[in-house]
Amino acid sequence: MISTVVIVGGGTAGWMTATYLKAAFGDRVGVTLVESARVPSIGVGEATFSTVRHFFDYLGLDETEWMPRCSASYKLGIRFEGWRAPGHHFYHPFERLPVADGFNLAEWWLRLGDPAEGFDRQCYITPWLCEARRSPRALDGSLFASGLDGPLGRSTLAEQRDQFPYAYHFDADLLAVFLAEYGRDRGVRHVRDDVVGAGQDERGWLTCVRTREHGELTGDLFIDCTGFRGLLINKTLGETFTSFQDVLPNNRAVSLRVPRRDPERMNPYTTATAADAGWIWNIPLFERDGTGYVYSDAHCTPDEAERALRDLVAPGRDDLEANHIAIRVGRNERSWVRNCVAIGLSSAFVEPLESTGIFFIQHGIEQLIKYFPDARWDPVARDRYNDAVAHAVDGVKEFLCLHYRAAGRDDTPYWKEAGTRPVPDGLAERLTVARSMLLDENAVYPRYHGFETYSWNTMLLGLGQIPAAPRAALAHLDPARAHAEFARVRETARRLVAALPSCHEYLATIN
Ligand code: FAD
Repeated sequence: MISTVVIVGGGTAGWMTATYLKAAFGDRVGVTLVESARVPSIGVGEATFSTVRHFFDYLGLDETEWMPRCSASYKLGIRFEGWRAPGHHFYHPFERLPVADGFNLAEWWLRLGDPAEGFDRQCYITPWLCEARRSPRALDGSLFASGLDGPLGRSTLAEQRDQFPYAYHFDADLLAVFLAEYGRDRGVRHVRDDVVGAGQDERGWLTCVRTREHGELTGDLFIDCTGFRGLLINKTLGETFTSFQDVLPNNRAVSLRVPRRDPERMNPYTTATAADAGWIWNIPLFERDGTGYVYSDAHCTPDEAERALRDLVAPGRDDLEANHIAIRVGRNERSWVRNCVAIGLSSAFVEPLESTGIFFIQHGIEQLIKYFPDARWDPVARDRYNDAVAHAVDGVKEFLCLHYRAAGRDDTPYWKEAGTRPVPDGLAERLTVARSMLLDENAVYPRYHGFETYSWNTMLLGLGQIPAAPRAALAHLDPARAHAEFARVRETARRLVAALPSCHEYLATIN
């Protein structure tokens, strides 16, 4: 029996893991979390996937309980600005493509659409809600997408059937504080101390972590949530970390927390703006904007990046303190080694584009529960876990490489290089297919990695990679149903924009 789990690290990964384990196993498994009071958590990581609601529902938390405590807001998708050409933008929404006569609307758009108007606004409802800064919920709390409103209960990513229409932005530090309270109330032992070493038996398995003031903390299973340090998985157990920098060169970020000039002009989406040596995020929380410039230090110094960020997001506010961060891009060969599992930045990180860090944490925790060890420490379960984590990370890596490879921008050395840099083999094949036709389920990265076919096609079309011709069959099909779908999208968008409150107006009712 595994009866004691010791988690090292109290950032988003540590506290999400501790609370999820408690929600799953209650008092049947003891959980101790030790976190340093001196080493700060990373302090960024504020945008999520729509599937994060499975996490909150698993914990039995209603939006009204946790959102106001974490300055949280709604995210309907990501707005990509300037990736294709200056002044161009498109949305990657949390919305699947409608289908007419067996072909999705993006396929029909290639045949029937108006090229002057973005495909996203013709195929999806969400971009209209984004432009009008609408809340996905009406003032009575009801969700605009019918049938998705009820709590999911203890569901997991694997049980996801519907595309939920929004994710969240939140203050990661406040979320950790909130979850710490939740965890302590449910029996997590919380130790504030520095881990200075680890004990190992003759096989090299961990027996304890040594703390500065609380002695040895013993356990059966150890979870490394120490961020980029990888204190247990890399420093103690020596697991190999494979860098992705050959294909994803961004290795630094600088972030700024910016008060919003007009608090009510709250965008219900994350913005990713292409910059000279990377891209700049803007994540509107309820009380401020989280912003940052992710860049490659081969093309830009930290001072230049900070200046560019300040000029774009906070002109005249040089008093705001910048946070410079070195990023470790890649993954451990194995995230589970002996009796240690790494979750969070200690396991893998691709880069902030598409907000996958917290998704990886959630996925890692769910897989850990699925393959939870017993006294046999079955290596098959461990290997299954490692495969699932590796596949998810590698799929995201490919998907993000697509963003840079397909981007139309080529006006700086950074972007020129992005268009010619080698890409993973699987992606090279997919890009060849995409020159002829949009990708289908058989053509996208085949293992679970959080992104569906519609996401891949949204990025291809948004970035300007238009297939040479529409599918030939569409020329022989009656287009009436497709026209009706385009009209339905437009009419639904018009109706919702008129009916829904602004995002700020709705969130003010629960804050
Ligand atoms: P950290 O936050 O670094 O926490 C590490 C913890 O370990 C701390 O509590 C620290 O005190 C503790 N610790 C370290 N050493 C010791 C020790 N010796 N003893 C005791 N405790 C110790 N993800 C998203 O989903 N969306 C985003 O928008 C997003 N943006 C990002 C932007 C950037 C620039 C970066 C770098 C990451 C971003 N991420 C994002 C990823 C996200 O920030 C992380 O996945 C998430 O915050 C989890 O971090 P963590 O808990 O693994 O590590």
